[in-house]
Amino acid sequence: MREDAQIAGMEPEMREWEKNIRQVVPYVPGEQPNLPDMVKLNTNENPYPPAPGVLKALEEFNVDKLRLYPDPTSIILGNVLADYYKVGTDQVFVGVGSDDVLSMAFLTFFNSNLPILFPDITYSFYDVWAGLYKIPYETPALDETLRIKKEDYYKENGGIVIANPNAPTSVCEDLSFIRDILEHNKRSIVIVDEAYIDFGGTSAMELIKEYDNLLVVQTFSKSRSMAGMRIGYAIGHSDLISALHNVKYSVNSYTMNQPSLYLGVEAVKDDRYFKECINKIVNTREYVIEEMKKLGFSMPESKANFIFATHEFIPAAEIFAALRTKNIFVRYFNKPRINNYLRITIGTEEEMKILLDFLKEYVRSKNNS
Ligand SMILES: *Cc1c(COP(=O)(O)O)cnc(C)c1O
Repeated sequence: MREDAQIAGMEPEMREWEKNIRQVVPYVPGEQPNLPDMVKLNTNENPYPPAPGVLKALEEFNVDKLRLYPDPTSIILGNVLADYYKVGTDQVFVGVGSDDVLSMAFLTFFNSNLPILFPDITYSFYDVWAGLYKIPYETPALDETLRIKKEDYYKENGGIVIANPNAPTSVCEDLSFIRDILEHNKRSIVIVDEAYIDFGGTSAMELIKEYDNLLVVQTFSKSRSMAGMRIGYAIGHSDLISALHNVKYSVNSYTMNQPSLYLGVEAVKDDRYFKECINKIVNTREYVIEEMKKLGFSMPESKANFIFATHEFIPAAEIFAALRTKNIFVRYFNKPRINNYLRITIGTEEEMKILLDFLKEYVRSKNNS
């Protein structure tokens, strides 16, 4: 726009319609490089394939189904999730990844003039949605050990969002912590984003019958190996779910495409495969933590499929850059308070051995210099 104006020899001034453009600072997702020999540990994807039933359903998918609009209520997926979590179908909301579900929840529930609250270090999409929807917000600081201070959430607010386990810290709070937050916040809606809960935490799902202001959000992207399919869901009191549906039907009725509905159902059905994959990842995580500690790394206790590690003397930014030269991708956040940490996704055992072998050599070379 400015360049055009300069070419035309005019003063670059704001055109009338530009004043009405929504100003947003978008979320920046982790990069998606596609190199033949890369070790991709930067966006917390699951290294194992989706359940075998998902592949079978994909192969047998009747392409004629694509002619028709999908079911706007996503009922087949809602039903299977309701069965799995032993809640009513009217307590389940399904969306295009939990990003869609969370975005809808912000739009639906956070309409107060009081600020909503979430930690200063957490999933960096929350402040983006707050900005997009013009929701006032405050971000109480985590303590020095990267834990949430629950007392910060006792004051009046327009809503609360807690990622548990938190990202990118991997720290998980127990149920009594979530219950305490709920006890102090009966007047606002509390969203617990449980993207990583299956890797060792206790879900707040069981508190839903006690607290009608609690919304639990989960995703198929991490523990169910289906980030590419885009499926997320929220579970809560039927009044919350019906409010979410009203807003969704005011934006786009057909959010879930036909394949995602059918394949999503198959993923939930195979609980044994689900638990096997999680076990493998948890075992690999514990092994990686042990090995990294020997190399001078430390990290908070992880209940996620990633760790948040810092080295005793080598700056994280340097390690990040060195790993990249070997096509080993991890995530580095150049932000105050966390700019000396690396967020490392737990991949397969083979991938983690490649990472550890590199780190062993790298730390040794630094020790000798
Ligand atoms: C990955 C992630 C999500 C979103 O995942 P979807 O792929 O959109 O389901 C939400 N919250 C947190 C904390 C995450 O890490």
